[in-house]
Amino acid sequence: MAEQVNGGLPVCPVNKKCGGCQLLGTEYSEQLKNKRKTVAGLMSGICSVDPVVGMDNPLHYRNKVNAAFDIDRHGKHISGVYKAGTHEVVNVESCLIENEKADAIIGTIRGMLKSFKIKTYDEDTGYGLIRHVMVRVAHATGQIMVVLVLSDPILPAKNNFVKALRSAHPEITTVVLNVNNKKTSMVLGNRNITLYGPGFITDELCGKKFRISPSSFYQVNSEQTEKLYKRAISLAKLSGKETVIDAYCGIGTIGLVASDKAKNVIGVELNGDAVRDANTNKKANNTTNISFYNADAGEFMERLAAEGEHVDVVFMDPPRSGSTEQFMDSVAVLRPDRVVYISCNPETLARDIKYFRTIGYKAKTVTPFDMFPYTEEIECVASLTNMMGKKALATVDDDEE
Ligand code: SAH
Repeated sequence: MAEQVNGGLPVCPVNKKCGGCQLLGTEYSEQLKNKRKTVAGLMSGICSVDPVVGMDNPLHYRNKVNAAFDIDRHGKHISGVYKAGTHEVVNVESCLIENEKADAIIGTIRGMLKSFKIKTYDEDTGYGLIRHVMVRVAHATGQIMVVLVLSDPILPAKNNFVKALRSAHPEITTVVLNVNNKKTSMVLGNRNITLYGPGFITDELCGKKFRISPSSFYQVNSEQTEKLYKRAISLAKLSGKETVIDAYCGIGTIGLVASDKAKNVIGVELNGDAVRDANTNKKANNTTNISFYNADAGEFMERLAAEGEHVDVVFMDPPRSGSTEQFMDSVAVLRPDRVVYISCNPETLARDIKYFRTIGYKAKTVTPFDMFPYTEEIECVASLTNMMGKKALATVDDDEE
């Protein structure tokens, strides 16, 4: 779709109400410069900062689209995002950063509600059926999953509904009914009923297959994720002989991509569902040299350190709050040659790089990646090198006894 432009800048009719794209009024090259400046400010006196790795085409990058459903004052069906800070739905026909096929599918569903006599769910009364529609598009394979989030497991005339939807969008490969009958702001409920296809989609990232179920975590910008992971793997300088940790591993993406170039990989992740997906992905790729553990990364690393494990490289990709001293102190004992730190929050990255310096690990440079153009989010990767040889600073046993 051709974008509406205003002096070279894309235009969005609902930008003010939605609040999703904070940087819509800033030219893309300027956004990248500003993001670099922000990171450089945080890293001042710590290490240098590379230019931001941006996108050639920074629009429509989101591979997952969620739309809330409601009716407007005139009783017309609407779907889109919640107005910032409220539960009032803003109707979105098409969004500048969302996948265009996903938006078109959501529009088709909105148009089908009347003839299928499907009512939108009312949060206050609990009356009505359709709450949300989530569409996920696999970047490499083109497979598309539609998840209808309903307040009830029964969708009247479901076969005709799916048939009509698929005839409008033959590219849909699976349709899932998700039941959410709770008073909650969570989009998805716990129960999934597959209405068409296998109930999941499969994508490929850096040559590995990933199975994506309705609730699986998966990076939303596939093109940039691939660039980021490639950089992370190259910073790790793997030769095939290394024992590698993938800490905060999610569904195992980084570890699986690294596994071809390592002797063995150990993944650790707190979320049990993500670990289950990681094991599914391990099987889907016939990978045998990787194991996933469901644990707190700090506690897990402390145990490895206490057991005197040998580790050559640590990948770490913690949540926004960053890592913990327990984790980093254990790295100091395990003494890998390199730590590759992937971060979605440059503030906690700066804090943790500073702490790493006190335990003998130094970063030369940080590379920001623009995973979320038109928003203020910044992702970074940094490689930290062991400056003290294999000698440990302290042993974990000393602290414990
Ligand atoms: N590396 C993955 C996921 C990164 S997101 C990817 O690129 O896809 C950060 C992950 O850290 C999430 O999956 C979250 O569940 C996990 N996490 C949060 N706190 C944790 C902790 N204390 N120990 C282990 N994992 C944790």
